[in-house]
Amino acid sequence: MGPLKLRILLGVVFVGIVALVSLAINFRVTPVVPEIEIPPDSPVAIGTPLPEASPSPSPITSSFVGQADLIVPVAGVRPEQLLDTFADARSEGRSHDAIDIPAAAETPVLAAAEGKILKLFQSERGGTTIYQLSSNQELVFYYAHLSRYADGLAEGDIVRQGQVIAYVGDTGNAGPGNYHLHFSIAAVSDPKRYWEGTNINPYPLLQNRAR
Ligand SMILES: [Zn+2]
Repeated sequence: MGPLKLRILLGVVFVGIVALVSLAINFRVTPVVPEIEIPPDSPVAIGTPLPEASPSPSPITSSFVGQADLIVPVAGVRPEQLLDTFADARSEGRSHDAIDIPAAAETPVLAAAEGKILKLFQSERGGTTIYQLSSNQELVFYYAHLSRYADGLAEGDIVRQGQVIAYVGDTGNAGPGNYHLHFSIAAVSDPKRYWEGTNINPYPLLQNRAR
């Protein structure tokens, strides 16, 4: 074998090795599918946006204004103190789809409306949470970052508007000392699949009450 052929051969081998190495690096940095938190009996955090949710939320919202008749679900907080945080960005490309109501630790959390306690759920993000179905079975209220439930509260209970159902905390991903109630409202078509609703902004509904 002449020196020229040897050089060509070495060149080909070198290019081959480079290609293999870059392939291997590429393979390693390919993102692994992110782990999704799915609770055992599957209520997904209500803040999770649904793919089909975006097209037309306005008809749903408008049909509930005036019917929902909600109270601010934290004792001592007036509607005019609320901030609209519905469209705020959250991690992993999610939007907030809820309202955060800051309050001192252990402030009573009140049922925003009459309805049935569907689920008392421990969530990684939401911490200690409550899902409540409105009495017309069209809305699901979600209360998160609770410190604890009201004594004796159980799934299946019918609570009246303003009843103390829990206390403000910083559980889940609220951050230590960041005491607030994370409150969201979802319009549901099937109350049995209460974690699958379309989130509507609680802010105008809570303001509506003030007038
Ligand atoms: Zn929140």
